[in-house]
Amino acid sequence: MALSTAGSNGHAVGVEVDGVRYPSARQAAEALGLPTSTVQRRTHNPNFPNYRWLGATPGKRAVHDPGNCLLAKALIEPTPWPLDGGARRANVLDPNFDPPRVIRRVGWVRCMRCQRFHFSGDVARARMCLDCGGAGGMPTGPRPDADA
Ligand SMILES: [Zn+2]
Repeated sequence: MALSTAGSNGHAVGVEVDGVRYPSARQAAEALGLPTSTVQRRTHNPNFPNYRWLGATPGKRAVHDPGNCLLAKALIEPTPWPLDGGARRANVLDPNFDPPRVIRRVGWVRCMRCQRFHFSGDVARARMCLDCGGAGGMPTGPRPDADA
């Protein structure tokens, strides 16, 4: 959840309702099922002595935390491994889904044109090597017809 702040001073404003302290009027409102404006009004209204405005309190500093910030998380891309003749396939995961979603698979594949192995970032769609003008990786070894 995003850190709640009041105004532009970056400090959360504490609110106490029925002896329970909340870090902000908004969070108190959420807990009580009331509009935030109602909670704010009541804290300043003598008819609601059980609502107390605790004033600006130093809130938690909004520290950038890659684990819970709202930016999209980077894809989990496997590090390419040495040529294995196409034995292994590894998943590229999108951690923005829970559970993380497999969006493509990487591994060594033979180029559909020159038949050389190349490390493809998508074994289903990038089947032609870079040298042949495909979207795959750099092929291993010289062109089969290079010395001909
Ligand atoms: Zn090729």
